[in-house]
Amino acid sequence: MNQPTQPSSSYLDRLESETEARRSIARTEASPFAGAPGQLAEALEQRVDALAPELAALAAELHADPETAYQEHRSAARIAGLLERHGIQVHAGVHGVPTALRAEVGSGGPAIAVLAEYDALPEVGHACGHNVIAAAGTGAFLALAETLRADPHAFPGRVVLLGTPAEEGYSGKEVLARAGAFDGIDAAIMVHPYGYDLADQVWLGRRLLTVTFTGVAAHASAQPFMGRNALDAATLTYQGIGLLRQQLPPVDRVHAVIADGGTRPSIIPERAVMKLYARSKYPETLRELSRRLEDVARGAALMTGTGVELAWDEHPPSLPVRTNQALTGRWVAAQRRRGRSPLPGGVVSETIAASTDFGNVSYRIPGIHPLIGIADADVALHTREFAAAAGSPAAGRGAVDAAAGLALTALDYLCDPALRDAVAQDFADAGGPVDVPAYFD
Ligand SMILES: [Zn+2]
Ligand SMILES: [Zn+2]
Repeated sequence: MNQPTQPSSSYLDRLESETEARRSIARTEASPFAGAPGQLAEALEQRVDALAPELAALAAELHADPETAYQEHRSAARIAGLLERHGIQVHAGVHGVPTALRAEVGSGGPAIAVLAEYDALPEVGHACGHNVIAAAGTGAFLALAETLRADPHAFPGRVVLLGTPAEEGYSGKEVLARAGAFDGIDAAIMVHPYGYDLADQVWLGRRLLTVTFTGVAAHASAQPFMGRNALDAATLTYQGIGLLRQQLPPVDRVHAVIADGGTRPSIIPERAVMKLYARSKYPETLRELSRRLEDVARGAALMTGTGVELAWDEHPPSLPVRTNQALTGRWVAAQRRRGRSPLPGGVVSETIAASTDFGNVSYRIPGIHPLIGIADADVALHTREFAAAAGSPAAGRGAVDAAAGLALTALDYLCDPALRDAVAQDFADAGGPVDVPAYFD
Protein backbone atom coordinates (compact mmCIF):
# COMPACT_ATOMS: atom_id res chain seq x y z
CA MET A 1 0.00 0.00 0.00
CA ASN A 2 2.89 2.38 -0.65
CA GLN A 3 1.43 3.66 -3.92
CA PRO A 4 -1.08 6.51 -4.40
CA THR A 5 -4.54 5.61 -5.61
CA GLN A 6 -5.09 6.32 -9.27
CA PRO A 7 -7.42 9.32 -9.96
CA SER A 8 -10.47 8.24 -11.94
CA SER A 9 -10.97 9.63 -15.43
CA SER A 10 -14.77 9.63 -15.04
CA TYR A 11 -15.15 13.39 -14.86
CA LEU A 12 -12.73 14.05 -17.71
CA ASP A 13 -14.51 11.43 -19.83
CA ARG A 14 -17.83 13.18 -19.22
CA LEU A 15 -16.33 16.57 -20.00
CA GLU A 16 -14.99 15.22 -23.25
CA SER A 17 -18.29 13.70 -24.34
CA GLU A 18 -20.11 16.92 -23.43
CA THR A 19 -17.56 18.88 -25.45
CA GLU A 20 -18.16 16.56 -28.40
CA ALA A 21 -21.93 17.09 -28.12
CA ARG A 22 -21.51 20.87 -28.10
CA ARG A 23 -18.94 20.73 -30.88
CA SER A 24 -21.36 18.99 -33.21
CA ILE A 25 -23.85 21.87 -33.04
CA ALA A 26 -21.45 24.79 -32.50
CA ARG A 27 -21.07 27.46 -35.13
CA THR A 28 -18.72 30.38 -34.93
CA GLU A 29 -20.37 33.44 -36.41
CA ALA A 30 -19.00 34.69 -39.68
CA SER A 31 -17.22 38.04 -39.60
CA PRO A 32 -19.39 40.80 -41.10
CA PHE A 33 -16.28 42.70 -42.22
CA ALA A 34 -14.62 42.61 -45.61
CA GLY A 35 -11.04 42.67 -44.32
CA ALA A 36 -8.23 42.97 -46.85
CA PRO A 37 -8.75 42.92 -50.63
CA GLY A 38 -8.99 39.32 -51.88
CA GLN A 39 -5.93 39.32 -54.14
CA LEU A 40 -3.72 40.82 -51.44
CA ALA A 41 -4.87 38.24 -48.90
CA GLU A 42 -4.28 35.45 -51.38
CA ALA A 43 -0.76 36.63 -52.13
CA LEU A 44 -0.01 36.90 -48.41
CA GLU A 45 -1.24 33.38 -47.78
CA GLN A 46 0.99 32.13 -50.59
CA ARG A 47 3.98 33.81 -48.97
CA VAL A 48 3.21 31.99 -45.70
CA ASP A 49 2.98 28.70 -47.56
CA ALA A 50 6.32 29.38 -49.24
CA LEU A 51 7.83 29.86 -45.78
CA ALA A 52 6.33 26.60 -44.49
CA PRO A 53 9.55 24.51 -44.51
CA GLU A 54 11.47 27.20 -42.62
CA LEU A 55 8.67 27.67 -40.08
CA ALA A 56 8.36 23.95 -39.42
CA ALA A 57 12.16 23.79 -39.07
CA LEU A 58 12.16 26.68 -36.59
CA ALA A 59 9.44 25.01 -34.50
CA ALA A 60 11.43 21.77 -34.51
CA GLU A 61 14.75 23.44 -33.62
CA LEU A 62 13.24 25.32 -30.69
CA HIS A 63 11.53 22.13 -29.55
CA ALA A 64 14.81 20.21 -29.58
CA ASP A 65 16.60 22.79 -27.44
CA PRO A 66 14.14 24.03 -24.79
CA GLU A 67 15.09 26.96 -22.57
CA THR A 68 13.12 28.15 -19.54
CA ALA A 69 11.88 31.63 -18.64
CA TYR A 70 14.38 34.47 -19.15
CA GLN A 71 17.03 31.94 -20.28
CA GLU A 72 15.80 31.78 -23.90
CA HIS A 73 19.07 33.02 -25.43
CA ARG A 74 19.55 30.36 -28.11
CA SER A 75 15.83 30.39 -28.93
CA ALA A 76 15.82 34.16 -29.42
CA ALA A 77 18.97 33.86 -31.55
CA ARG A 78 17.33 31.22 -33.76
CA ILE A 79 14.29 33.42 -34.37
CA ALA A 80 16.49 36.46 -35.04
CA GLY A 81 18.62 34.36 -37.38
CA LEU A 82 15.65 33.36 -39.51
CA LEU A 83 14.45 36.97 -39.72
CA GLU A 84 17.91 38.25 -40.60
CA ARG A 85 18.31 35.64 -43.34
CA HIS A 86 15.23 37.28 -44.84
CA GLY A 87 16.80 40.72 -44.58
CA ILE A 88 14.89 41.88 -41.50
CA GLN A 89 16.61 44.05 -38.93
CA VAL A 90 16.03 42.60 -35.45
CA HIS A 91 16.52 44.35 -32.14
CA ALA A 92 17.51 41.93 -29.39
CA GLY A 93 17.35 42.59 -25.66
CA VAL A 94 14.70 45.27 -26.06
CA HIS A 95 12.62 46.86 -23.26
CA GLY A 96 15.18 45.83 -20.64
CA VAL A 97 14.70 42.09 -21.18
CA PRO A 98 17.82 40.37 -22.58
CA THR A 99 15.89 37.60 -24.36
CA ALA A 100 13.16 39.84 -25.81
CA LEU A 101 13.08 40.63 -29.55
CA ARG A 102 11.53 43.33 -31.68
CA ALA A 103 11.29 43.89 -35.40
CA GLU A 104 9.11 46.32 -37.27
CA VAL A 105 8.01 47.01 -40.84
CA GLY A 106 5.81 49.64 -42.43
CA SER A 107 5.22 53.23 -41.41
CA GLY A 108 2.57 55.48 -39.99
CA GLY A 109 -0.61 54.16 -38.40
CA PRO A 110 -2.38 51.98 -37.49
CA ALA A 111 -0.02 49.53 -35.79
CA ILE A 112 -0.57 45.90 -34.90
CA ALA A 113 1.76 43.63 -32.90
CA VAL A 114 2.21 39.91 -33.49
CA LEU A 115 3.51 38.23 -30.35
CA ALA A 116 5.86 35.26 -30.19
CA GLU A 117 6.58 33.24 -27.04
CA TYR A 118 9.47 30.77 -26.88
CA ASP A 119 10.03 29.78 -23.26
CA ALA A 120 9.82 26.15 -22.20
CA LEU A 121 9.11 24.42 -18.89
CA PRO A 122 11.60 22.78 -16.52
CA GLU A 123 11.79 18.97 -16.92
CA VAL A 124 9.10 18.65 -19.60
CA GLY A 125 10.56 21.02 -22.23
CA HIS A 126 8.11 22.47 -24.75
CA ALA A 127 5.09 20.95 -23.01
CA CYS A 128 3.18 24.21 -23.58
CA GLY A 129 4.16 24.32 -27.25
CA HIS A 130 5.62 27.82 -27.25
CA ASN A 131 7.93 26.69 -30.04
CA VAL A 132 4.79 26.61 -32.22
CA ILE A 133 3.83 30.12 -31.06
CA ALA A 134 7.28 31.39 -32.03
CA ALA A 135 7.14 29.85 -35.50
CA ALA A 136 3.60 31.13 -36.08
CA GLY A 137 4.35 34.71 -35.03
CA THR A 138 7.65 34.83 -36.88
CA GLY A 139 6.06 33.38 -40.03
CA ALA A 140 3.18 35.86 -39.96
CA PHE A 141 5.55 38.79 -39.56
CA LEU A 142 7.89 37.58 -42.31
CA ALA A 143 5.05 37.12 -44.80
CA LEU A 144 3.76 40.63 -44.07
CA ALA A 145 7.29 42.06 -44.31
CA GLU A 146 7.87 40.40 -47.68
CA THR A 147 4.55 41.74 -48.94
CA LEU A 148 5.69 45.27 -48.07
CA ARG A 149 9.09 44.69 -49.62
CA ALA A 150 7.45 43.73 -52.90
CA ASP A 151 5.17 46.77 -52.74
CA PRO A 152 5.75 49.40 -50.02
CA HIS A 153 2.18 50.62 -50.57
CA ALA A 154 0.58 47.17 -50.35
CA PHE A 155 -1.07 48.10 -47.04
CA PRO A 156 -0.97 51.02 -44.61
CA GLY A 157 0.44 51.10 -41.10
CA ARG A 158 3.00 49.11 -39.16
CA VAL A 159 3.49 45.50 -38.13
CA VAL A 160 5.58 44.82 -35.04
CA LEU A 161 6.93 41.41 -34.13
CA LEU A 162 7.47 41.20 -30.40
CA GLY A 163 9.38 38.26 -28.97
CA THR A 164 7.98 37.91 -25.45
CA PRO A 165 10.03 35.80 -23.00
CA ALA A 166 9.04 34.19 -19.73
CA GLU A 167 5.32 33.54 -20.09
CA GLU A 168 5.55 30.53 -17.77
CA GLY A 169 5.29 31.79 -14.20
CA TYR A 170 6.85 35.21 -14.66
CA SER A 171 4.35 37.32 -16.64
CA GLY A 172 7.07 38.47 -18.99
CA LYS A 173 4.61 40.43 -21.13
CA GLU A 174 3.73 42.61 -18.16
CA VAL A 175 7.42 43.40 -17.69
CA LEU A 176 7.63 44.37 -21.38
CA ALA A 177 4.41 46.37 -21.18
CA ARG A 178 5.66 48.37 -18.19
CA ALA A 179 8.82 49.13 -20.17
CA GLY A 180 6.69 50.59 -22.98
CA ALA A 181 6.68 47.68 -25.45
CA PHE A 182 3.03 48.29 -26.39
CA ASP A 183 3.15 52.08 -26.50
CA GLY A 184 1.84 53.31 -29.84
CA ILE A 185 0.43 49.88 -30.76
CA ASP A 186 -3.29 49.61 -31.49
CA ALA A 187 -3.87 45.84 -31.26
CA ALA A 188 -1.95 42.66 -30.39
CA ILE A 189 -2.51 39.14 -31.66
CA MET A 190 -1.04 35.76 -30.89
CA VAL A 191 -1.96 32.10 -31.00
CA HIS A 192 -1.42 29.16 -28.64
CA PRO A 193 -1.31 25.45 -29.56
CA TYR A 194 -3.86 23.13 -27.98
CA GLY A 195 -5.90 19.97 -28.41
CA TYR A 196 -8.66 21.82 -30.30
CA ASP A 197 -9.04 24.69 -32.73
CA LEU A 198 -10.72 27.30 -30.51
CA ALA A 199 -11.61 30.86 -31.46
CA ASP A 200 -11.98 31.80 -27.83
CA GLN A 201 -11.42 30.25 -24.43
CA VAL A 202 -11.48 31.36 -20.81
CA TRP A 203 -8.07 32.25 -19.33
CA LEU A 204 -8.09 33.02 -15.63
CA GLY A 205 -6.37 35.96 -14.00
CA ARG A 206 -3.64 34.89 -11.62
CA ARG A 207 -1.77 36.35 -8.66
CA LEU A 208 1.02 35.03 -6.47
CA LEU A 209 1.01 35.41 -2.72
CA THR A 210 3.77 34.64 -0.24
CA VAL A 211 2.65 34.48 3.39
CA THR A 212 5.31 34.49 6.09
CA PHE A 213 4.29 33.75 9.68
CA THR A 214 6.66 34.65 12.49
CA GLY A 215 6.27 32.86 15.80
CA VAL A 216 8.34 32.38 18.92
CA ALA A 217 10.61 29.35 19.16
CA ALA A 218 10.43 27.27 22.32
CA HIS A 219 11.29 23.78 23.54
CA ALA A 220 8.31 21.78 22.35
CA SER A 221 8.31 19.54 25.43
CA ALA A 222 9.79 21.55 28.28
CA GLN A 223 8.19 24.95 27.66
CA PRO A 224 5.69 24.78 24.78
CA PHE A 225 3.61 27.49 26.47
CA MET A 226 6.49 29.89 25.83
CA GLY A 227 6.15 29.42 22.09
CA ARG A 228 4.04 30.84 19.28
CA ASN A 229 3.69 28.30 16.51
CA ALA A 230 4.15 29.63 12.97
CA LEU A 231 3.41 26.21 11.46
CA ASP A 232 0.03 26.21 13.23
CA ALA A 233 -0.74 29.51 11.52
CA ALA A 234 0.20 28.03 8.13
CA THR A 235 -1.90 24.92 8.84
CA LEU A 236 -4.92 27.02 9.81
CA THR A 237 -4.48 29.12 6.68
CA TYR A 238 -4.36 25.98 4.56
CA GLN A 239 -7.53 24.72 6.21
CA GLY A 240 -9.16 28.13 5.99
CA ILE A 241 -8.57 28.17 2.24
CA GLY A 242 -10.04 24.68 2.03
CA LEU A 243 -13.21 25.83 3.75
CA LEU A 244 -13.35 29.07 1.78
CA ARG A 245 -13.49 27.10 -1.48
CA GLN A 246 -17.14 26.17 -1.08
CA GLN A 247 -18.12 29.84 -1.10
CA LEU A 248 -15.99 30.84 -4.09
CA PRO A 249 -17.26 31.48 -7.62
CA PRO A 250 -17.18 28.20 -9.61
CA VAL A 251 -13.92 28.63 -11.52
CA ASP A 252 -11.93 30.46 -8.85
CA ARG A 253 -8.80 28.50 -7.99
CA VAL A 254 -6.46 28.63 -5.01
CA HIS A 255 -3.36 26.45 -4.81
CA ALA A 256 -1.05 26.55 -1.82
CA VAL A 257 2.08 24.86 -0.54
CA ILE A 258 3.89 25.24 2.75
CA ALA A 259 7.39 26.04 1.57
CA ASP A 260 8.88 26.26 5.07
CA GLY A 261 7.27 24.73 8.14
CA GLY A 262 9.98 24.53 10.75
CA THR A 263 13.05 22.40 11.24
CA ARG A 264 12.74 19.91 14.12
CA PRO A 265 9.74 18.47 15.92
CA SER A 266 11.30 19.42 19.25
CA ILE A 267 11.28 23.13 18.45
CA ILE A 268 8.06 25.15 18.15
CA PRO A 269 8.45 26.52 14.59
CA GLU A 270 9.20 30.22 14.68
CA ARG A 271 8.84 30.68 10.94
CA ALA A 272 6.51 29.28 8.29
CA VAL A 273 6.23 30.31 4.67
CA MET A 274 3.33 29.59 2.33
CA LYS A 275 3.26 30.13 -1.43
CA LEU A 276 -0.16 30.58 -3.01
CA TYR A 277 -1.63 31.09 -6.45
CA ALA A 278 -5.03 32.74 -6.67
CA ARG A 279 -6.93 32.55 -9.95
CA SER A 280 -10.26 33.97 -11.03
CA LYS A 281 -12.25 34.52 -14.20
CA TYR A 282 -12.64 38.31 -13.90
CA PRO A 283 -10.33 41.07 -12.69
CA GLU A 284 -12.79 42.22 -10.03
CA THR A 285 -13.37 38.71 -8.66
CA LEU A 286 -9.61 38.17 -8.54
CA ARG A 287 -9.35 41.32 -6.48
CA GLU A 288 -12.10 40.07 -4.15
CA LEU A 289 -10.47 36.66 -3.83
CA SER A 290 -7.20 38.38 -2.93
CA ARG A 291 -8.86 40.17 -0.01
CA ARG A 292 -10.48 36.97 1.27
CA LEU A 293 -7.15 35.17 1.25
CA GLU A 294 -5.58 38.02 3.18
CA ASP A 295 -8.37 37.75 5.77
CA VAL A 296 -7.82 34.00 6.14
CA ALA A 297 -4.08 34.47 6.73
CA ARG A 298 -4.60 37.35 9.15
CA GLY A 299 -7.24 35.32 11.03
CA ALA A 300 -4.83 32.41 11.36
CA ALA A 301 -2.17 34.79 12.69
CA LEU A 302 -4.62 36.16 15.22
CA MET A 303 -5.60 32.67 16.39
CA THR A 304 -2.01 31.63 16.89
CA GLY A 305 -0.54 34.87 18.17
CA THR A 306 1.95 34.98 15.32
CA GLY A 307 3.04 37.83 13.15
CA VAL A 308 2.10 37.71 9.48
CA GLU A 309 3.56 39.33 6.41
CA LEU A 310 1.69 39.23 3.08
CA ALA A 311 3.73 39.74 -0.06
CA TRP A 312 1.74 39.81 -3.29
CA ASP A 313 3.03 39.34 -6.80
CA GLU A 314 6.65 38.38 -6.54
CA HIS A 315 6.23 38.34 -10.32
CA PRO A 316 3.59 40.57 -11.90
CA PRO A 317 -0.03 39.38 -11.76
CA SER A 318 -1.85 38.23 -14.89
CA LEU A 319 -5.32 39.47 -15.70
CA PRO A 320 -7.80 37.15 -17.46
CA VAL A 321 -7.86 37.33 -21.26
CA ARG A 322 -10.34 39.80 -22.73
CA THR A 323 -11.06 38.55 -26.23
CA ASN A 324 -11.82 41.08 -28.96
CA GLN A 325 -14.78 39.69 -30.90
CA ALA A 326 -14.25 41.73 -34.08
CA LEU A 327 -10.66 40.48 -34.39
CA THR A 328 -11.75 36.96 -33.52
CA GLY A 329 -14.13 37.03 -36.47
CA ARG A 330 -11.23 37.69 -38.85
CA TRP A 331 -9.12 34.95 -37.23
CA VAL A 332 -11.98 32.51 -37.80
CA ALA A 333 -12.37 33.63 -41.43
CA ALA A 334 -8.63 33.10 -41.96
CA GLN A 335 -8.69 29.66 -40.33
CA ARG A 336 -11.56 28.59 -42.58
CA ARG A 337 -9.32 29.37 -45.55
CA ARG A 338 -6.93 26.81 -44.03
CA GLY A 339 -9.65 24.18 -43.73
CA ARG A 340 -9.99 24.62 -39.99
CA SER A 341 -13.16 25.52 -38.07
CA PRO A 342 -12.28 27.14 -34.76
CA LEU A 343 -14.93 26.46 -32.15
CA PRO A 344 -16.60 29.34 -30.32
CA GLY A 345 -16.09 30.02 -26.61
CA GLY A 346 -18.04 27.72 -24.31
CA VAL A 347 -17.59 24.50 -26.31
CA VAL A 348 -14.61 23.43 -24.22
CA SER A 349 -15.47 23.72 -20.53
CA GLU A 350 -14.21 26.83 -18.80
CA THR A 351 -13.29 24.62 -15.84
CA ILE A 352 -10.26 23.51 -17.85
CA ALA A 353 -8.65 26.88 -17.48
CA ALA A 354 -5.13 28.13 -17.03
CA SER A 355 -3.61 31.62 -17.10
CA THR A 356 -1.48 33.64 -19.48
CA ASP A 357 0.33 36.96 -19.31
CA PHE A 358 -1.38 37.90 -22.57
CA GLY A 359 -4.33 38.83 -20.34
CA ASN A 360 -2.48 41.96 -19.28
CA VAL A 361 -1.93 42.94 -22.89
CA SER A 362 -5.61 42.38 -23.68
CA TYR A 363 -6.69 44.86 -20.98
CA ARG A 364 -4.39 47.52 -22.40
CA ILE A 365 -5.20 47.21 -26.10
CA PRO A 366 -7.55 45.02 -28.18
CA GLY A 367 -6.22 41.51 -28.66
CA ILE A 368 -6.87 37.87 -29.40
CA HIS A 369 -5.31 34.66 -28.08
CA PRO A 370 -7.03 31.85 -30.04
CA LEU A 371 -5.94 28.22 -29.87
CA ILE A 372 -4.84 25.98 -32.71
CA GLY A 373 -5.11 22.20 -32.56
CA ILE A 374 -1.85 20.24 -32.76
CA ALA A 375 -2.66 17.39 -30.36
CA ASP A 376 -5.44 14.93 -29.55
CA ALA A 377 -8.31 16.52 -27.65
CA ASP A 378 -7.53 14.71 -24.40
CA VAL A 379 -3.88 15.81 -24.26
CA ALA A 380 -3.44 18.52 -21.62
CA LEU A 381 -0.91 21.35 -21.70
CA HIS A 382 2.20 20.94 -19.51
CA THR A 383 2.36 17.17 -19.95
CA ARG A 384 5.01 15.01 -21.62
CA GLU A 385 2.32 13.99 -24.10
CA PHE A 386 1.80 17.61 -25.16
CA ALA A 387 5.58 18.10 -25.40
CA ALA A 388 5.64 15.17 -27.83
CA ALA A 389 2.80 16.71 -29.85
CA ALA A 390 4.68 20.04 -29.99
CA GLY A 391 7.52 18.23 -31.74
CA SER A 392 5.32 16.32 -34.18
CA PRO A 393 4.51 17.01 -37.86
CA ALA A 394 1.07 18.23 -36.67
CA ALA A 395 2.86 21.01 -34.78
CA GLY A 396 4.65 22.07 -37.96
CA ARG A 397 1.33 22.15 -39.85
CA GLY A 398 -0.29 24.02 -36.96
CA ALA A 399 2.50 26.60 -36.96
CA VAL A 400 1.99 27.28 -40.67
CA ASP A 401 -1.81 27.50 -40.43
CA ALA A 402 -1.44 29.72 -37.38
CA ALA A 403 1.08 31.93 -39.19
CA ALA A 404 -1.42 32.34 -42.03
CA GLY A 405 -4.18 33.13 -39.53
CA LEU A 406 -2.15 35.80 -37.76
CA ALA A 407 -0.85 37.32 -41.00
CA LEU A 408 -4.32 37.54 -42.55
CA THR A 409 -5.88 38.92 -39.36
CA ALA A 410 -3.19 41.61 -39.17
CA LEU A 411 -3.64 42.44 -42.86
CA ASP A 412 -7.42 42.72 -42.42
CA TYR A 413 -6.93 45.01 -39.45
CA LEU A 414 -4.58 47.33 -41.32
CA CYS A 415 -6.63 47.39 -44.55
CA ASP A 416 -10.20 47.69 -43.24
CA PRO A 417 -11.11 50.91 -41.35
CA ALA A 418 -14.60 49.61 -40.56
CA LEU A 419 -13.06 46.57 -38.90
CA ARG A 420 -10.72 48.79 -36.89
CA ASP A 421 -13.67 50.87 -35.71
CA ALA A 422 -15.48 47.71 -34.62
CA VAL A 423 -12.37 46.45 -32.82
CA ALA A 424 -12.09 49.74 -30.94
CA GLN A 425 -15.83 49.75 -30.16
CA ASP A 426 -15.72 46.18 -28.85
CA PHE A 427 -12.76 47.10 -26.63
CA ALA A 428 -14.57 50.20 -25.32
CA ASP A 429 -17.76 48.20 -24.69
CA ALA A 430 -15.74 45.72 -22.63
CA GLY A 431 -14.57 48.54 -20.39
CA GLY A 432 -11.72 50.16 -22.28
CA PRO A 433 -8.10 50.18 -21.14
CA VAL A 434 -7.26 49.25 -17.55
CA ASP A 435 -4.32 50.60 -15.55
CA VAL A 436 -2.88 47.13 -15.05
CA PRO A 437 0.05 47.93 -12.68
CA ALA A 438 -2.31 49.85 -10.36
CA TYR A 439 -5.23 47.42 -10.60
CA PHE A 440 -4.61 45.48 -7.37
CA ASP A 441 -3.30 48.38 -5.28
ZN1 LIG B 1 1.97 26.97 -20.15
ZN1 LIG C 1 1.60 28.35 -22.93
